Amino acid sequence: MNKLWLNGQVVPADQAKISVFDRGFLFGDGIYEVVPLYAGKPFLFDDHMARLERSLQAISIPMPMPRSQWLEVIDALSDNLTDGNGVLYIQVTRGEEFPRSHLPGTDLTPTVMATLTPFSPPSGEPIPARVSLMEDNRWLRCDIKSISLLGGIMGKLAAHQDGTAEPLLHRAGRVTEGATCNYFIVQNNTLITAPADTLILAGITRDWVIKLARDHGIPVEERAFSVAELYAADECFLTSSTREIMPVSMVSEQTIGDGQIGPVTQQLIQLFRSSRPQANHVKVVHENQI
Ligand code: PLP
Repeated sequence: MNKLWLNGQVVPADQAKISVFDRGFLFGDGIYEVVPLYAGKPFLFDDHMARLERSLQAISIPMPMPRSQWLEVIDALSDNLTDGNGVLYIQVTRGEEFPRSHLPGTDLTPTVMATLTPFSPPSGEPIPARVSLMEDNRWLRCDIKSISLLGGIMGKLAAHQDGTAEPLLHRAGRVTEGATCNYFIVQNNTLITAPADTLILAGITRDWVIKLARDHGIPVEERAFSVAELYAADECFLTSSTREIMPVSMVSEQTIGDGQIGPVTQQLIQLFRSSRPQANHVKVVHENQI
């Protein structure tokens, strides 16, 4: 990464600095957002911006700039990408304050940082993942996209030790989500995913997959489902902005369905890939046309 955006300026990444008194550093007092770009175009941009605004509002940090200005940030950092495929990471903290106090002052200026890094959108035949079932020990406001992510980090570490791709979290037997993704199961051709309450972060990919499914006649239920239902499901997959739709073949030691990518998952992957912004077509000029 060559350069990033910090408080209204483009700066070389290795020269970007913030204060040790920043509340993001001291308390994890901030919000983040991740927007995928395909061929230079941010995907579902307004939905990501709306979620950023909701999360900031939930913790009383003002939106630091209008939505349109984030598009200027993308333009300013676009040299970081080679083919226009990238991930915009946005972080807004409450700002810098001394002395350290849990109760924030009212006149703070948020610290705003953004990076744009290359991304290879999933392509070809997906490889089904194994994930690890574990208890969800995070806080009870998972609908806020907070930069305080210890629960998720502990889950990721445990899954890594287990040799799997991701934790699959549950609260007293009710499936919530992953550390960085949402889960879906398929039962008798119906899609089921946890409701968008405070126990999960409603993924923008989750919402898009629900819309694609409904538009194509696949019934969707947004409702609590149990680990027992997961184990008895025909298919399972996870969703996130960078993994899009990833089939899940095993949860801990349990194979889901027949362990292959199921037909509903296949269909949704195709629908998703056709719905994302396509790369600009490069005109092929044949030798004899030159
Ligand atoms: N749930 C959690 C806890 C996440 O951190 C993420 C993404 O980072 C998601 C779900 C998926 O969200 P999205 O589809 O917007 O990437």
